[in-house]
Amino acid sequence: MVAEVISGRDLSMKLKAEMKQEIDTLKERGIIPHLTVVLVGDDPASRSYVSGKKKASNEIGMSSEIIELPESVSEVELLKVINRLNQDSTVHGILVQLPLPVQINVQHIIESIDPKKDVDGFHPINIGKMMTGEDTFLPCTPYGIMTMLHSKNISIEGKHAVVIGRSNIVGKPVGQLLLNENATVTYCHSKTKDLKAFTKLADILVVAIGKPNVITKDYLKEGAVVIDVGINRLSDGTLTGDVDFKSASEVASYITPVPRGVGPMTITMLLHNTIKAAKGLVK
Ligand code: NAD
Repeated sequence: MVAEVISGRDLSMKLKAEMKQEIDTLKERGIIPHLTVVLVGDDPASRSYVSGKKKASNEIGMSSEIIELPESVSEVELLKVINRLNQDSTVHGILVQLPLPVQINVQHIIESIDPKKDVDGFHPINIGKMMTGEDTFLPCTPYGIMTMLHSKNISIEGKHAVVIGRSNIVGKPVGQLLLNENATVTYCHSKTKDLKAFTKLADILVVAIGKPNVITKDYLKEGAVVIDVGINRLSDGTLTGDVDFKSASEVASYITPVPRGVGPMTITMLLHNTIKAAKGLVK
């Protein structure tokens, strides 16, 4: 078997073209979706993610701004900035780029964002709504993964989905979204004994570990759908996923590449959530 590649880049381009049209219509009604991204400190990876978000916003005609704060900013000062953005009716979406410096409690910051502007979908109220299946902002990477599966009409109901990784931003929520669509979900993580025994049973395998090329064809059931969330920069500067793409492609039915897989979908779903916020769809 040679796996069909699910291109996040191609799907993103299609969705962004649709969103651009929708924004043109919203503008005729006087609504300009606006995303504010808060960047604390000077971490090069964070800076690159933030500028990617601004560039993508601009491409589809959305308004966006980056608020830059020094590494030394206090939690109180950052909370004041967020409070001001919460009150500003022209700001529809607020995203605080993570990680934050040690003097700041990340959870305090996440919980200070108005849930109706929480386009990252990290606020406990939005996580709770996701768990109970209410309409809300879904966290962008898991939402992107689900959108990729839907784009290929991959059936989820009754399938065994195995998620490797249990972070709050990827592993846990993607498992919940798969469960919401009636998959049988197994979570694996760093303490799982005999990982292969679980992955071999997966109809859908989502890999979010953060270690290069861990999952080879030996871990897969014939015909599995393989979603590679990992982004690992090798010493030669190239990017690779958590899945050995070449080997896994021999066994999988569908596979996502790295780069141009889940990564572009994450930003695309952020744009989608910001439009949803501007339309006032999350109460
Ligand atoms: P994390 O470090 O918070 O979590 C990693 C998880 O992997 C943990 O739950 C851990 O228990 C598990 N794990 C670690 N080693 C393991 C092993 N050998 N076997 C089984 N499980 C193991 O990471 P994260 O934030 O969830 O991100 C995971 C990866 O996804 C990273 O490479 C990150 O860069 C990438 N990522 C990509 C996107 C995207 O848009 N494509 C978004 C977020 C994260």
